[in-house]
Amino acid sequence: MLKQVAEGVLIHRSELLENNTVVVHGRDGVLLVDAGITSAEMTCLAKDLRGLGRPVVAGFSTHPDWDHVLWHAELGEAPRYGTARCAAVMQDVFSNADWKVGVAEGLPPEIAEDTPLDLYGLITGLPAETAQLPWHGPKVRIIEHPAHAPGHAALLIEERRVLIAGDMLSDVFVPMLDDSDNPIEDYLVGLGLLEGVADDVDVLIPGHGSVARNDEVRARIKLDRAYVEDLRDARVSSDPRVVSPKPGWEWASGIHEAQARNLARGSEREGTPD
Ligand SMILES: [Zn+2]
Repeated sequence: MLKQVAEGVLIHRSELLENNTVVVHGRDGVLLVDAGITSAEMTCLAKDLRGLGRPVVAGFSTHPDWDHVLWHAELGEAPRYGTARCAAVMQDVFSNADWKVGVAEGLPPEIAEDTPLDLYGLITGLPAETAQLPWHGPKVRIIEHPAHAPGHAALLIEERRVLIAGDMLSDVFVPMLDDSDNPIEDYLVGLGLLEGVADDVDVLIPGHGSVARNDEVRARIKLDRAYVEDLRDARVSSDPRVVSPKPGWEWASGIHEAQARNLARGSEREGTPD
C-alpha cells in the first residue's frame, strides 16, 4: 500500500525491517528509491504503480547493502542508479562466481525464500561528484557521504522539502557504522552533511522506521550524533533505541553491543606497544 508523505512523494513499507521504498512522481513516470525486499512486496508496489498509471522511469539505491539493491522484473527495466562507489561495491560482489550463494546465506531466514536475486545489484554508477539525479522530475540532489556504507547517498528533493536518508536517522536502528578505517569520523562527516541541509527539510524518510517531520528532523540528527559521540568516548549510551527499543526490536540492541565491543577492541590494540 502506498502512502503519501509529501506532495508527489509516497512510501511503500516492507514489513520485516520496516524498509521504506520511496516513490517520487516525475514528468513521465516515477523514481523508485530502494525498491523493496520480497517478491510479494515488490509485485504489490508494481501493481499500485500500474493502478496509478505511472511507470518506473528511474531507480536509485542509497547504498550497496542487500536490502537496498533488490529489484523485481515487474518494476520494469528503467536505469537503476547509485553512486560510482556503490556500483563498484556491487561489481566487487559479482566478481565472485558464487556471489548468489553468499548473498542468499546472509538473508534473514523469514524472507529468504521470497527474496528475488535475479536482478540483484544491477546498479548504474553515476560519475563521482554527480550533484543531481538524471531524470525528468523535481530536482533530486545527491548527497554522498562516507557514513554507514561505501558510496552511501542521501537524496534531497528541494522543491518538496523531502530528505531521503538511506540507512541514517532511523528511529528503529542506532547509527550503524561502516567497517572503514575511521568509522566514527566518517559517520560524523555524514551527519554533518545532513545537518547542513536540515533547514531545507520538512519531511525526512529514513531507510528504516517512521517518517520524521519538522522539528523531529533536527532531533533525529542530534540523537544520532549523541549516540556516535558516546560510542567514540566509551560512555554508556542513554539512547532510547538501546535502552528501550521499540517492542519486537529488542534484538537490535545487539547492533549497539557489537559496535561498542569492536571499538573497545580497536582502542586496546592501539594502546598495545609492539
Ligand atoms: Zn538497510
